[in-house]
Amino acid sequence: MTVQIPFDNSFARLPNHMFTAQRPTPVQQPALIAKNDALASELGISFGDDAAEVFAGNTIPEGAAPLAQLYAGHQFGNWNPQLGDGRAILLGEVVGTDGIRRDIQLKGSGITPYSRNGDGRSWLGPVLREYIVSEAMHAMGVPTTRALAAVTTGETVYRETALPGAVFTRVAQSHIRVGTFQVYAARRDTEASQALLDHVIARHYPEATGPQDVLDAVIARHARLVAKWLSLGFIHGVMNTDNVTISGETIDYGPCAFMDDYEPMKVFSSIDQMGRYAYGNQPRVAVWNMAQLATALVPLMPDQDEAVEIFTESVNRFPDLYEAAWLEFFGAKLGLDLPTKDDTQLINDLLDLMSAGGSDFTNTFANLSSINAPDHFADREAFGAWVDRWQERRTPKHAEIMAAANPQVIPRNHQVEAVIQAGVEGDFAPFHDMLAAVTDPYTANAKFAKVPVAAEVVTRTFCGT
Ligand code: AMP
Ligand code: MG
Ligand code: MG
Repeated sequence: MTVQIPFDNSFARLPNHMFTAQRPTPVQQPALIAKNDALASELGISFGDDAAEVFAGNTIPEGAAPLAQLYAGHQFGNWNPQLGDGRAILLGEVVGTDGIRRDIQLKGSGITPYSRNGDGRSWLGPVLREYIVSEAMHAMGVPTTRALAAVTTGETVYRETALPGAVFTRVAQSHIRVGTFQVYAARRDTEASQALLDHVIARHYPEATGPQDVLDAVIARHARLVAKWLSLGFIHGVMNTDNVTISGETIDYGPCAFMDDYEPMKVFSSIDQMGRYAYGNQPRVAVWNMAQLATALVPLMPDQDEAVEIFTESVNRFPDLYEAAWLEFFGAKLGLDLPTKDDTQLINDLLDLMSAGGSDFTNTFANLSSINAPDHFADREAFGAWVDRWQERRTPKHAEIMAAANPQVIPRNHQVEAVIQAGVEGDFAPFHDMLAAVTDPYTANAKFAKVPVAAEVVTRTFCGT
């Protein structure tokens, strides 16, 4: 039996200067690390005996129309007029049992016209990281790309040192980014912009009647998305406009990290020297990114001066939408039934105590209603006073609400690093063990709730792709 993927490709029908037909570059010795049977069945995909060859890019499955997508983007605020899939290839699309169309994309599959100086490859570390983190995010209810498969290539990839190569198969509602709109706006290619907009409406926002509806819908999704990230202590790390999806899904898990100790301006990424993408800056950066999308959509409006005014109002609505979502998610973390603006202070006071005491973000919320909670606070007296206020506010339903809102397990950096280290040595048992734990995040798990000891603390993450 061979891999069966019921392809139904629509991006490949767009004007052909919007992508480049490109086959993956075969690798020496593909071997399967992991495959996602549950996701495959939702997509109508069956894994066959040739799964390693297909998900390494050595065998092109029937119905695929492999291509590399063009995009541009602002990287750390600096405009880059041409990016694109430099080490990724879209195999095609499938329509799942839920009726939603999704991309099947190989990452690390070889050089494309957009590779610039890159080798088009990925080493094992980012592949294992993205598999674990994206599946954990999904399990915690965060809109995200998914992991379908991972393979080793039997080839060496050179970064600062020689490392084992790997290919990751990613599933997304689409890989269209703010940067995909930006590239055509910058080139004044209105035909491509309009074709892209029509494609996006058909695919993601069928109720939209034009650019303004799309902008408003993307803003609404990203306001919730970023609020959700903050509610989990997640730091994306590289919120460049080429890493911001139009579908509202989290994409690009390069230098991402979950915080251990709560620090409102925590930064992990080695290249984020100004802290542009710090934990607490993410909502502000999202507004900036939405403004770039708005700018790219202006040429599609009949009256451009009027469009600038209307779109400015749309972008300015982001903070209110974000605040409402933040209150909903953090209110649930405290078990509050229908949190209101008056609860903001209660939430922020707890966060201040956590920050002052260096409390572990995840474990504090996971243990908040238990006897162990004071352990997370340096100032137990102040925490006691806060608990009194909280108890006054909460209802008997709080425990149930909290259990569904506060993960017991997140993919901690030091554990991801240990999984990668074992993988490099050829042992994938720790990867499978951790994947099982993080995809069951609301179940207590003593092993994976462990915070790092001093020597294990990860202070820097790398795009190190
Ligand atoms: P990222 O930082 O992952 O968002 O990537 C930024 C751009 O660099 C994208 O256009 C990637 O396709 C490209 N890129 C990153 N790593 C490589 C690589 N090893 N080979 C080719 N292109 C790459
Ligand atoms: Mg990217
Ligand atoms: Mg990346």
